Amino acid sequence: MKYLILIAVVLGVLWLMRSLRKPSAAEPPQKPATPPKQEEMVTCLQCGVHMPRSEALPGRGGVFCGEAHRTAFESNRGD
Ligand SMILES: [Zn+2]
Repeated sequence: MKYLILIAVVLGVLWLMRSLRKPSAAEPPQKPATPPKQEEMVTCLQCGVHMPRSEALPGRGGVFCGEAHRTAFESNRGD
């Protein structure tokens, strides 16, 4: 009876060590939380409206919300 308890304890310790060493597969790999890519916001030089860079119209000296403001701004500068 003594041996049975000893064997049970040894088996228990071995099982415990194995479960401790085993990497927890249940846990999903830690992925860095990447927020949805936010587009850079730019400001129209003429009216100051904010818009994503992809929608902005590049012009001399900056970006604009549209062709009209780009023309207006560039003609104001008298270039
Ligand atoms: Zn504008």
